[in-house]
Amino acid sequence: MIAAPLRNLVGRAFAALILGIVLHAPHLAAEPLDYRLEPRKIADDTWVLIGKTEDFNRINGGNIVNTAFVVTTDGVVVIDSGPSRLYAEQMRRAIARITPQPVIRVFNTHHHPDHFLGNQVFADVPTAALASTIAGQRQEGAAFTDNVYRLSGDWIKGTESTPARETVGQGVTVIGNHEFQLMALSGHTDGDLVILDHSTGVLFAGDLVFYNRAPTTPHATVAQWFAALDRLDAISYRTMVPGHGDPVSDGRAVRQTRSYLRWVEGTLRQAAERGDEMAEVLGLAVPAEFAAIPLSREEFARSVAHLYRRYEAATLNRPH
Ligand SMILES: [Zn+2]
Repeated sequence: MIAAPLRNLVGRAFAALILGIVLHAPHLAAEPLDYRLEPRKIADDTWVLIGKTEDFNRINGGNIVNTAFVVTTDGVVVIDSGPSRLYAEQMRRAIARITPQPVIRVFNTHHHPDHFLGNQVFADVPTAALASTIAGQRQEGAAFTDNVYRLSGDWIKGTESTPARETVGQGVTVIGNHEFQLMALSGHTDGDLVILDHSTGVLFAGDLVFYNRAPTTPHATVAQWFAALDRLDAISYRTMVPGHGDPVSDGRAVRQTRSYLRWVEGTLRQAAERGDEMAEVLGLAVPAEFAAIPLSREEFARSVAHLYRRYEAATLNRPH
């Protein structure tokens, strides 16, 4: 039992707390959601919007991805449209602050939600991707949108999965004063479009390359991914823009992605050969080299969930 004066005091404090919440809530709700996109110029005519090296959450609103645009003499080429309608609207405003040129083409590097859920804001522009990417967008886009909404909340409101409308393949495409080489690779997903701008030497690697952010593997085929990284190593470029993490001017991001995937690969293969249960694999230590990469612990756990059964099956099917 609480004495009456104390009870009053507690009651008053509680009322004040409630009042405080009520007074502050509308203020919080009225705060406009702003991704604060700040294009960073990395080469002539070329800007990137660098996302956070984080997971989707309600603070970053899904701004965890790198998008880019190239201002050609014919108009603006956009590479990836971001995680939401709001992001792409703010991206278009950011582009308009830099150039009066209209956006004339959007490329999606692959079908993951952070790379294409802004497409609906480019209904007036041809949106293009590899055939396998468009197939993945059609098949999984709605589920991706629900999932991203669950993780990032209001930022995603009004976002509708809008698959790219034009299929592109391998080849050179000239847009204004820029010559883009499109490369159809795979490994991170079934369709990973890499774009090399021959006019500036900028290589847009999509999610085949992660830098200082652990790679994600929900649609990965690791052997193809290694082959794609070898292809990237053979290209000469001035600046590489990874799908996540800072742009680099040498092979360090490819090397980091490769060595991380080699570790995941080797760890899962050896665990399968030992006959480890999935729970045991999840408990394995992450070596210091990879523990230093943001989200490596989380992504390793996800990779075990995505990939371990395949390694177990491969071990069981091997002739004795
Ligand atoms: Zn991806």
